[in-house]
Amino acid sequence: MNDQPTDLIKTAIQSKILHGKRALVVGIANEHSIAYGCARIFRQLGADLAVTYLNEKAKPYIEPLAKELGASVFAPCDVAQSGQLESVFEQIRETWGSLDIALHSIAFAPREDLQGRLVDSSSEGFKVAMDISCHSFVRMARLAEPLMPEGGTLMAMSYHGANKVVPNYNLMGPVKAALESVVRYLAYELGDKHIRVHAVSPGPLKTRAASGLKDFDVLLTEAIERAPIGELVDIDDVGLTAAYLTTPFARRLTGTTTYVDGGLSIMA
Ligand code: NAD
Repeated sequence: MNDQPTDLIKTAIQSKILHGKRALVVGIANEHSIAYGCARIFRQLGADLAVTYLNEKAKPYIEPLAKELGASVFAPCDVAQSGQLESVFEQIRETWGSLDIALHSIAFAPREDLQGRLVDSSSEGFKVAMDISCHSFVRMARLAEPLMPEGGTLMAMSYHGANKVVPNYNLMGPVKAALESVVRYLAYELGDKHIRVHAVSPGPLKTRAASGLKDFDVLLTEAIERAPIGELVDIDDVGLTAAYLTTPFARRLTGTTTYVDGGLSIMA
């Protein structure tokens, strides 16, 4: 980012436009996680946070970040373990009584299935990928709905491989396509409650999840070469767009996929 936009962003952040808002962020693994960029921007804009960690092994990496973010709720959440997501929402209900924002920034597929061709993927691998990366967002929406009587914003992270074939994205392509469809149906079903639902689709970012993709560095190089803006996006860029989607500035937006990719996805 050059200096001038950075100054403007600082001024915008001083607005504290999310003051009094309560946001659940699921998907922080470390300081490189997209979810961390989103949580940091939400916090800088004044939101109170609930942050989760996958399990005891992951906890030491996330706890200092949750502290720095002043998270009011810090709880374990493996969406594959029955009852854990429910327990997070129960803690939110006890602590806050309501919720304004829920951000889903998680994905998983067994390595063999992720790195092989879709045509060779196992039924079990596909099922696991779909459940953790997609249906868990449906469950999140179901649990968030009663805590959002005045409306709210639900968001999930997608990727361009949902809509176009990106070599090596493999079975995650169809899984993200399902996720974007889920976003549309949830937007339809929850719209009358003023709960808006968004997919956010970042360009490639060097994170732990991305390191599981074969030849990911090629995607990064291509993104710099081919994106009209000519720079990689960073996790703060994603956070700023996610924050915008939660504000009244986006009050008539729902069900769509917002790209944060420097224009990469418009290129042939
Ligand atoms: P990351 O590794 O930092 O985050 C992935 C998160 O998923 C981790 O926090 C991990 O603990 C969580 N997770 C995996 N299995 C889980 C489970 N069973 N229960 C709960 N959490 C679980 O990587 P990231 O790149 O920040 O990924 C976040 C999201 O962004 C993913 O949906 C990913 O597909 C998407 N995305 C990433 C990129 C990229 O280039 N990095 C681009 C577009 C979209």
